[in-house]
Amino acid sequence: MEFIEFWRRVERAHRVQTYFLIWWLPFSMGVLLLMAETLERIPQWAFFVLFWAWPVVGMLLALRLTCLVCPQCGKRAFAHPRFRLSDAVCTHCGLRRSESSSRPS
Ligand SMILES: [Zn+2]
Repeated sequence: MEFIEFWRRVERAHRVQTYFLIWWLPFSMGVLLLMAETLERIPQWAFFVLFWAWPVVGMLLALRLTCLVCPQCGKRAFAHPRFRLSDAVCTHCGLRRSESSSRPS
């Protein structure tokens, strides 16, 4: 159970981070266009929030992923937030997703 829950959390955090990176620019442009139509001009603070807050939110999502603790060795499982989910492996003990699903819980 512990291993399965760990990999579920990894998948969820990885998915959120990936969608954030992919959809941020189209989402931001959509919000700005909507604001431009409703307010007739885009307020300056909107640019600040939509474009400068992006790195902060991205770093928080990356930090969330790299702070996940491996259930096997008890250390932070990932040193870097960008990796292929299918190749995900604990950097310390080498725990893999495929190994975890066959373990008794
Ligand atoms: Zn580990």
